[in-house]
Amino acid sequence: MGNNQRQGQTPGMPCPQCGQFIPTTVTELLVSSSLCCPHCGLRLSIDRAKSMKAMQALAKVEAAQRRVEKTSKFNGRY
Ligand SMILES: [Zn+2]
Repeated sequence: MGNNQRQGQTPGMPCPQCGQFIPTTVTELLVSSSLCCPHCGLRLSIDRAKSMKAMQALAKVEAAQRRVEKTSKFNGRY
């Protein structure tokens, strides 16, 4: 029902244990102190300092997504 996959650009990070993709968002990382891998069940505790790089990468993806949304909204050419 809530199936809104857009352009295969899901923000997230690879699991350090099983290597599968864990979908997450910057907001989620910021508000929660741990992350659970849906594939192997590994529980990752989020170290703010260590995950800084991952968060920056995620922030870029999210910013890009927002830009895509904006672009599709203002679909006119100049
Ligand atoms: Zn995993």
